[in-house]
Amino acid sequence: MTSATTISGHQGLQMDEPLIFELDSPGSSGVDLPPPPKVKSRLGAVAARNGVGLPGLSEPEVVRHYTRLSQKNYAIDSGFYPLGSCTMKHNPRLNEKMARLPGFADVHPLQPVSTVQGALELIDTLAGWLKTLTGMKAVALSPAAGAHGEMCGMMAIAAAHEHRGGPARKRVLVPESAHGTNPATAAALGMTVEAIPATEDGRIDLPAFKAKLGFDVAAVMLTNPNTCGLFEREVKALADAVHEAGAFLYCDGANFNAIIGRVRVADLGVDAMHINLHKTFSTPHGGGGPGSGPVVFSEALAPFIPLPAIIHDDDGYRLIETQDDDDGTALAFGRMKAFHGQMGVFVRALAYSLSHGADGLYQASADAVLSANYILAKLKDTFNAPFEGPCMHEALFDDKSLKGTGVSTLDIAKALIDEGFHPMTVYFPLVVHGAMLIEPTESESKRSIDQFIATMKGLAERAKTDAASFHAAPTLAPRRRLDETAAARKPILKWKK
Ligand SMILES: *Cc1c(COP(=O)(O)O)cnc(C)c1O
Repeated sequence: MTSATTISGHQGLQMDEPLIFELDSPGSSGVDLPPPPKVKSRLGAVAARNGVGLPGLSEPEVVRHYTRLSQKNYAIDSGFYPLGSCTMKHNPRLNEKMARLPGFADVHPLQPVSTVQGALELIDTLAGWLKTLTGMKAVALSPAAGAHGEMCGMMAIAAAHEHRGGPARKRVLVPESAHGTNPATAAALGMTVEAIPATEDGRIDLPAFKAKLGFDVAAVMLTNPNTCGLFEREVKALADAVHEAGAFLYCDGANFNAIIGRVRVADLGVDAMHINLHKTFSTPHGGGGPGSGPVVFSEALAPFIPLPAIIHDDDGYRLIETQDDDDGTALAFGRMKAFHGQMGVFVRALAYSLSHGADGLYQASADAVLSANYILAKLKDTFNAPFEGPCMHEALFDDKSLKGTGVSTLDIAKALIDEGFHPMTVYFPLVVHGAMLIEPTESESKRSIDQFIATMKGLAERAKTDAASFHAAPTLAPRRRLDETAAARKPILKWKK
């Protein structure tokens, strides 16, 4: 359902954009070919009998179609994007420029190692930054995203248990508030997942957790800061208990932006943690580009990390791709990826680190936390905050204050679209009713945060008197409210004439 009530279907300068197949005018073409030579067929029996099924359009029509589609993609470059747990921060143009240098952009993973010494040096330098920032012993750079990194970390943990021998360990403990990828990873590896309950203040219930520990537990997957935007204060005691039980502590590091430069993850007793380079180290993501999820490892897990390894010695940089005693890779559990990782994201992450410097990263985490606490302080009398602040880099609200108005969290999110804001994360974490998780990041100005706060206050006021206006929202976007259940359950994936 489109929003426009105009004759053309367009609205302002926002065009209503059909599918390219609906724009088909048979015979149109973007190229002007010379007339065919006077032979019957140069292809003979292999000539196509039917058309290839591509739409016919002129070049300007094709250009406009894709330009308009690109303009429908709301991005961090268009406006405030407070999607909690996703760290939608500014992507410095310097990073983009570096990633496009031909020496990095055009390297091929099968090039002789002697011709990619600079690229390997870059990867190795980035590895150094990640190990220093976390205090960890080793890093695997190949995982392609956070979820892939979780898989990588848990596979190293499984390999370590197997190497140690002893009884089978199949149980994995995961807090109730965890991101869905945590239990999904454990389940995909054939482990059974058990939820760890939370306390009233939104953190792990340590006594309840300890009661669940046993010698059949393989690992605990913890997110810190957790998805309620809170630091798990008892993480050290938790890690000690995990290690006493012979298990490993996996940390979901998606929220690293809150603690970068301030907390050395190794000091918390973590054995493995993925870092979403596309979140904390600023790479366009969420429809904007590929991710990268390197995993840092403790001393205990370092021998098991996947290949490839990069070694620097008198002969320069070497890429180790096989299990080998001499290279210290005898126990490596295998590979996560055909090649070596997301080179473009590595370049961006290193450019980001070098341009910030250690002091700049230290400042960035402080500013991210300050922005979130500003939102929490300004909105906590309007929307209910389920947990006592201060928060880390994201502010969490529930839907208590909307009770009785007939307006839901989803309605607020949809109304924000009409107001020119990308909605916050909604209904996550699951442990909070009608959750609204707002992550402004350090790169948002006070002016834009204030505008968002004023809009949220205005919407809360309107909810009390005019609930009906919310139920149709968005009314100013190219599409009105969609039936999201039908879209998920019965998606139409193929265009039919
Ligand atoms: C984003 C995120 C993940 C998954 O990372 P991807 O890079 O999207 O695969 C896992 N856990 C948390 C808490 C996240 O925010």
